[in-house]
Amino acid sequence: MDAIEEFGPLELEQARKLFAGKCDFMLGVAALEQLPDTDLSEVAFAGRSNVGKSSLMNALTERTALARTSHTPGRTQQLNYFNLGDKIRLVDMPGYGYAKVSKTQREEWNQLIRNFLRGRPNLRCVFMLIDARHGLKDSDREIMKMLDDTAVSYRIIMTKADKVHESQHQALRDKTEKTLKEHSAAFPHIHLTSSVKGIGVPEFRAIIRSFAI
Ligand code: GDP
Repeated sequence: MDAIEEFGPLELEQARKLFAGKCDFMLGVAALEQLPDTDLSEVAFAGRSNVGKSSLMNALTERTALARTSHTPGRTQQLNYFNLGDKIRLVDMPGYGYAKVSKTQREEWNQLIRNFLRGRPNLRCVFMLIDARHGLKDSDREIMKMLDDTAVSYRIIMTKADKVHESQHQALRDKTEKTLKEHSAAFPHIHLTSSVKGIGVPEFRAIIRSFAI
């Protein structure tokens, strides 16, 4: 079993119901003064471009186009806010690590994200999405350092687990969790998912629900 947490059938069902309900796009935030009130808990999704972030957000909400791919021009440098049943907000962070962006764009990204992380008391957790085939890259480590520095709790969520043979899952877990020991704000366990095969998706819903008010 891939999930470390043991969720009972009731919790999984409650989480399924939450995600089967309303999930509306609220707004795209390009400047921090546009951020919504801090009255509702929020969780954010971060990851390198192409990590499978849109696919996973769509799989969670069983929608085909909740989150558009990070290649869609105009939505790349925004924090996209979704309201999940008035219980919790999902924040789709712009993808990073894309080779073709300019230095200025990268700096703008860093500025937006750093200020966001510093100023969001209701941000309960950042899910750092990592491609299970590639593991942690330097650009991921930079964000993890930013999260450690700003003391924002985060969890590693592996994507595309279907691309890694099951016999390799434990080794992947051991290797990544060893690294996590050096990161003060990281949850010590990883969670494996596949949007294509649905692996770990019900449990991920329950993890997110645990942060809802
Ligand atoms: P984003 O840029 O992080 O939003 O990534 P996308 O969701 O657009 O996915 C990038 C690519 O990875 C697409 O070609 C997807 O079809 C593929 N992909 C996403 N999730 C999975 C998965 O769970 N398994 C496999 N095998 N491919 C996936």
